[in-house]
Amino acid sequence: MTLSYLAKTAALLAIWIGTLAAQAAQPLAKADVEAALNAAYTKYKDLSEGANADYIPALAKVDSAIYGIALVTPQGDIYTAGDVSSEVSIQSISKVFTLALVMDEQGPEAIFNNMGVDATGQVFNSIVAIEQHKGAEMNPLVNAGAITATSMVSGDSRAQIWNKILNYYNAFAGRELSVNKEVFESEAATNQRNQAIAELMYAYGHIKSNPDQATDIYTEQCSVNVNVRDLAIMAATLADGGRNPVTKKQVMKNENVSEVLAVMATAGLYDDSGKWLYLTGLPAKSGVGGGIIAVSPGRFGIAVISPPLDAAGNSVRAQKAIADISNALGGNPYAVEPAM
Ligand code: GLN
Repeated sequence: MTLSYLAKTAALLAIWIGTLAAQAAQPLAKADVEAALNAAYTKYKDLSEGANADYIPALAKVDSAIYGIALVTPQGDIYTAGDVSSEVSIQSISKVFTLALVMDEQGPEAIFNNMGVDATGQVFNSIVAIEQHKGAEMNPLVNAGAITATSMVSGDSRAQIWNKILNYYNAFAGRELSVNKEVFESEAATNQRNQAIAELMYAYGHIKSNPDQATDIYTEQCSVNVNVRDLAIMAATLADGGRNPVTKKQVMKNENVSEVLAVMATAGLYDDSGKWLYLTGLPAKSGVGGGIIAVSPGRFGIAVISPPLDAAGNSVRAQKAIADISNALGGNPYAVEPAM
């Protein structure tokens, strides 16, 4: 080994260590986070665009004025603005956590092989998207893929499967969540379209058995009540590699987090996912209850609740407030400065 070889190796090592140091993001400063939350809260407080979802009758009755923001860091610091106590049903945000549960049980390839991880470009409850590829080449964050994911959770009885799902969500939130009975009953009485979706996924062999039970459990998981703080802690758990930064417990397998975030980036805001990623760079997930979670990996989890939705089914205020806050705090993982 020559001396110049040694010198070269040492120089390369130094560059590598320097790059690593530059990439390790600094924890967020308290004053910056508070200023960003308060500015976004105030800016969108009087916005009156959008309307509550009404295809599930109970959702039309939810107070449209509920508006809360929460941000949680990997250090476990919790910042909030506005309404932190009102609960809404989690709706489609639940799809992320059932997806994570299936990956933890069966590995990421089970999802990849069963319904795929591609954007459909269609509305979240599209039947055309199922027909296009016989229930494949879609993803676990649209209804067809999500009901299929729920059908993949193992268990001997409905009760056992349900308890497993709810306990898994509880670990992400760091507290015991409960079901909004009114929303569950209202959606169960009006979810014929989701029943049809599940039958089709069964017909094409993606759901292996009992599509009715899968739809029923899926409907119940969508009815779990959360406040904005719960949602932000759930998002921050994904931002911190599957470890809940508040309870300090590892609640999902670390190796599956990047795949979950990739699916959220691809399909988290339905057919507006591309637009959202373009504006923020953040993996996110919306629900028709009015919540949106977003994840800046290694930096923060954020959530906003505000029931009025746009045409794609995404909360209007939540999209605007999260985009502003994340961009103010440097949350976009694609926004980097040249190394030298
Ligand atoms: N439970 C709702 C449904 O299946 C969830 C949809 C959503 O939040 N986009 O229609």
